[in-house]
Amino acid sequence: MATIINGKELAKKIRLELKNEVDELKSKGIEPKLSVIMVGNDKASEVYVRNKSKACNEIGIAFEEFLLPEETSKEELLGLIEKLNQRKDIHGILLQSPIPKHLDIREAFNSIDYRKDVDGFHPINVGKLAIGEESFVSCTPAGVMEMLKEYGIDVQGKRAVVIGRSNIVGKPLSQLLLNANATVTICHSKTQNIAEITKEADILVAALGKPKFVTANMVKKTAVVIDVGINRDEGKLVGDVDFENVEKIASYITPVPGGVGPMTVAMLMKNVVKAAKSTIN
Ligand code: NAP
Repeated sequence: MATIINGKELAKKIRLELKNEVDELKSKGIEPKLSVIMVGNDKASEVYVRNKSKACNEIGIAFEEFLLPEETSKEELLGLIEKLNQRKDIHGILLQSPIPKHLDIREAFNSIDYRKDVDGFHPINVGKLAIGEESFVSCTPAGVMEMLKEYGIDVQGKRAVVIGRSNIVGKPLSQLLLNANATVTICHSKTQNIAEITKEADILVAALGKPKFVTANMVKKTAVVIDVGINRDEGKLVGDVDFENVEKIASYITPVPGGVGPMTVAMLMKNVVKAAKSTIN
């Protein structure tokens, strides 16, 4: 039976450490602050933003929310981002996705000052990650790496297979694993004979958004299995991995919920603290 990687506990520990760092920053006159922009009223986004606000509160990070109406123009959105870029009291800017279709999310992400880009989506941060320079790293992939580290899972020289190549999860995570000296293979919707590839993995990451896609016959015995997926299956929250059966053969596995999910918010908090610290000369 696999050891369960407890993301909830680890996230709690990280938040506690961050609280101490925030107290120290405050004693030096710096109050870390995150601003979140939400355009339109997406129900799931409201829940995500509420969770981020709660986490900020708990750690002592100031939180400012900008709720813009559905009909917001490109000029209004970019104008607000520019204002936040200029404000010295704001260290992190996050644009909650999705935004309405008439707006270009890439253009909006690109207009955020990369030094305040706590989501790690700006091309400068993506580029820095690719060349192995210090940068803001996308929170979910950063959370996965933190979990591997916490559980003493050595990545160097291992075969890592990542299913999914999105800009926010699959690609940055593959890059992080490569930077940590794993031999990385990325699978996507056009990949053929996927099970043959996944069966080779010492570390298998599922980030595709298909409930219980990874079944036991796709997993090598004693593999480390990381489930990034968040799906609704008959009202229940399930991951991309058939947990019940894969748990029996893996050496480590992350549950859903309580695995990667809580780590994402913790890493966002970490990025805000990092942004605030970087303002100290
Ligand atoms: P996404 O943008 O939809 O990307 C999905 C990726 O999976 C794409 O690269 C796609 O390939 C690939 N894919 C789809 N079907 C496939 C199949 N049958 N076989 C192989 N690859 C397939 O999704 P995402 O934003 O990366 O998110 C992935 C999952 O993680 C979702 O369930 C999401 O809810 C979850 N998520 C969780 C967290 C967290 O905090 N835990 C954070 C972010 C996302 P193509 O590129 O060829 O289309």
